[in-house]
Amino acid sequence: MNKENRKQSAKGCSQLLKQQASIVGNDPLREEVDLVVVGGGAAGFFGAITAAESNPALKILLLEKGPNVLSKVRISGGGRCNVTHACFDPAELITHYPRGSRELLGPFHSWQPADTVQWFQDKGVSLKTECDGRMFPVSDQSSSIVDCLLNTSIKSGVRIQTRCEVTQITPLKTGGFTILTNGGGDYKCRHVLWTAGGMKPGKQFKIIQSLGHHIIDPIPSLFTFEIKHPLINGLQGLSVPLAESSLIGTDIRCRGPMLITHWGLSGPAILRLSAWAAREIHAMSGPFEIEINWIPDINNPQTALLAFKEAHGKKLITNSPALGLPKRLWQRLTGTVDVKPRTTWSGLRQDSLDRFCSILTQTRFKVSGKSRNKEEFVTCGGVELKEIRFKTMESRKTPGLYFAGESLDIDAETGGFNFQAAWTTGYLAGSAIATSS
Ligand SMILES: Cc1cc2nc3c(=O)[nH]c(=O)nc-3n(C[C@H](O)[C@H](O)[C@H](O)COP(=O)(O)OP(=O)(O)OC[C@H]3O[C@@H](n4cnc5c(N)ncnc54)[C@H](O)[C@@H]3O)c2cc1C
Repeated sequence: MNKENRKQSAKGCSQLLKQQASIVGNDPLREEVDLVVVGGGAAGFFGAITAAESNPALKILLLEKGPNVLSKVRISGGGRCNVTHACFDPAELITHYPRGSRELLGPFHSWQPADTVQWFQDKGVSLKTECDGRMFPVSDQSSSIVDCLLNTSIKSGVRIQTRCEVTQITPLKTGGFTILTNGGGDYKCRHVLWTAGGMKPGKQFKIIQSLGHHIIDPIPSLFTFEIKHPLINGLQGLSVPLAESSLIGTDIRCRGPMLITHWGLSGPAILRLSAWAAREIHAMSGPFEIEINWIPDINNPQTALLAFKEAHGKKLITNSPALGLPKRLWQRLTGTVDVKPRTTWSGLRQDSLDRFCSILTQTRFKVSGKSRNKEEFVTCGGVELKEIRFKTMESRKTPGLYFAGESLDIDAETGGFNFQAAWTTGYLAGSAIATSS
């Protein structure tokens, strides 16, 4: 989505909100509602809509501290919104979650990507699947998803208040809560759904800890690696269809396409490693080392290279890349084992072949820093999962309080899995609140 489209779409969104405000009028102070949803992101909207559609009698108020709702949905997936992933087996789906996989198995049996696809389809937004399994709106515009969620919430009677930050939640002895905000009045409610996104130390910690919860230290996940190394310098834009990255000093290794960028390495093989090794990398608090296997699906590189040598003996090594590697990367790799530009495959000595096998399967890089992946990044850490009932998303510490989305210690690999966790946990919380009201 370009800047102009984004502006237009945000304008449309604020017009919808204004229209709605004129229907509901200004909120009186100390109003009583059934449910307050804290945070207008994917999880908050899905929870609010589910509760409203399941029990239309509920008075539901969604409070968002920013000037706009669904801001992350709008910028997600490079403006296209990678809504979910075409993985329809809950047991396989959970393997994409470094944190939360065990807890999500049950929830995914209740609401999984097939349900998400059907839900959006029923509301008039068709999704399409790309060859790597990622699912996007057919329009390739995140505004299709934003508009759908906003229109559906308004139609189902959810009231939305922006520029309204929740600053305190106090449980009442008689049941229910008082909610203090800065900017939008104070409220009494029977249920609270906390969907304020990745936990930030400070105000959010205080609110959640005051309700009896522990927070697993929030740190970044889904980042790319800054590497300066002659092997890859100047090769930006070049990609390898399948590589394996591993973090030295651990057993963590991840496979997928790899992309060389002007600052280092990126692509699914790197983003996955950043997610699965998020805590280990954070603990190293400085430069760390990774190893790349450029040909992970080749079981015996020696045999594969010897077979290539046999078949292409007269060809120049530097001009005839083997094992599916891009030519410019191949030439850099051969350079590291002193293959001269005029050396033919038949002239490749055994010791060079041995060294070549090592570099193809064990290239080491020192990573000097992390860069944000513009397409998707998330917080690893959040509300401790054992304090939540995963059938309903209700707190075990404070009855009537529910959690969904990134505020929990749940995060996933890139590919639509993070939104799926938000839809699923939002759905479970919304359904439970609707039936317990
Ligand atoms: C650039 C980018 C691209 C992404 N792309 C994808 C993608 O394509 N696919 C995918 O699966 N995932 C993607 N993600 C991850 C995904 O966006 C998140 O996992 C998801 O948005 C989490 O939803 P949420 O509702 O839990 O939190 P959020 O979307 O973060 O929403 C939380 C909301 O709560 C509000 N809030 C916070 N505190 C308060 C308070 N005290 N009172 C009131 N409101 C409050 C915040 O302002 C925010 O609007 C992307 C993330 C980023 C940053």
